Amino acid sequence: MPLLVMKFGGTSVADLARIKNAAGKVKREVERGYDVIVIVSAMSGKTNELVGWVEGTSPLYDAREYDAVVSSGENVTAGLMALTLQEMDVPARSWQGWQVPIQTTSAHAAARFVDIPRANIDAKFAEGFKVAVVAGFQGVSPEGRITTLGRGGSDTTAVAFAAAFAAERCDIYTDVDGVYTTDPRITSKARKLDRIAFEEMLELASLGAKVLQTRSVELAMRYKVRLRVLSSFEDTDENSGTLVCDEDEIMESKVVSGVAYSRDEAKMTLVRVEDRPGIAAAIFGPLADAGVNVDMIVQNISETDAPGDKRAYTDMTFSCPTNQVVRARKAIEAARDEGKFVYADLVTDSDVAKLSVVGIGMRSHAGVAARMFSALAAENVNIKVITTSEIKISVLIDRKYMELAVQALHDAFELEKA
Ligand code: ADP
Ligand code: ASP
Ligand code: MG
Repeated sequence: MPLLVMKFGGTSVADLARIKNAAGKVKREVERGYDVIVIVSAMSGKTNELVGWVEGTSPLYDAREYDAVVSSGENVTAGLMALTLQEMDVPARSWQGWQVPIQTTSAHAAARFVDIPRANIDAKFAEGFKVAVVAGFQGVSPEGRITTLGRGGSDTTAVAFAAAFAAERCDIYTDVDGVYTTDPRITSKARKLDRIAFEEMLELASLGAKVLQTRSVELAMRYKVRLRVLSSFEDTDENSGTLVCDEDEIMESKVVSGVAYSRDEAKMTLVRVEDRPGIAAAIFGPLADAGVNVDMIVQNISETDAPGDKRAYTDMTFSCPTNQVVRARKAIEAARDEGKFVYADLVTDSDVAKLSVVGIGMRSHAGVAARMFSALAAENVNIKVITTSEIKISVLIDRKYMELAVQALHDAFELEKA
């Protein structure tokens, strides 16, 4: 029997009417002859509420209990979806992660798949069930504890199931009708892409475009999963939405194909740390140990301090998510107290955003950075940190200019034109 994976995000299962709407789409695929694995998210807003409850109970919480609480949203929707399908005469059974069992690492809140054994679900299909509704975002650790995959993780559950069950396609149903040149909520000029290359989608996702979780794109690329993003609120067919595919399946691509942003960034600077071999390791080792996701790093030119002082000093700047600033500060202060380094000041700017342009065409085209910087200059937006890689350029700017800057870059690279 051919098999499809269909994933419904939070807004697509936000209430009973929407679950019914999603179930209708599943039923249609069953009628076309498919067995279906449905991956569901928690109802929209639910996961945030659960996270809030955990943080309200215990600021430095035990990650195992965080996962126990936060995974529960998906359990509710999985059961409700199975019930809704049964009401429509579609034989369906729900699955929590441990029942499959979806085996993951024990990195709580950031777990990775180890194995998805097919036997239990295959046995249910063999009994005549047509749909397996699997709770997204969760799994079980080798210690037998419930784990979660990181925010947006149901996308990754969907792709992993598509790979494990050799699905014909992995369809990600969401509240937009595809992947756009930038977040359509930021500019109405955003244009839907019919196709996007895995590598570009990977960069856009990791730079903040939350339409797909980064890890889901990585898995789809590795296991050659046919991955599609489409609307759960519209009538759709095999050609709807955006196909994420290999570069050579795309006829023509522009130099820049999209603009991504990440709103909740913070910039931290260690002022006047001694500039000597090993200083970067001394700073970033403890940050990594504390689980801080350091992103951009800039080390300023070195200066000697005073005549007679032979030591050189530098400023070391890095960025991390705003909700990790407290943890980062603690890690740095603890390392300083242990005598790993000294600095004059630790300055935090929590009001920055990261803005990136992405495109595989950048590999062969010069001048993208210059065009980006002049578009920002024309809007009087100051750039605080710059990083580049083969197919992307990112800058940190004041958060208050973020929307304006996204629009300016979208215009500068003429992304509204096909
Ligand atoms: P779901 O709950 O279905 O997983 P998400 O909220 O995680 O949905 O992702 C969909 C959202 O991603 C859209 O509503 C849109 O605002 C946002 N988004 C950001 N960048 C893009 C982009 N380039 N293309 C499409 N959507 C994007
Ligand atoms: N419910 C989880 C979240 O909001 C996982 C997901 O929806 O993909 O992050
Ligand atoms: Mg999502």
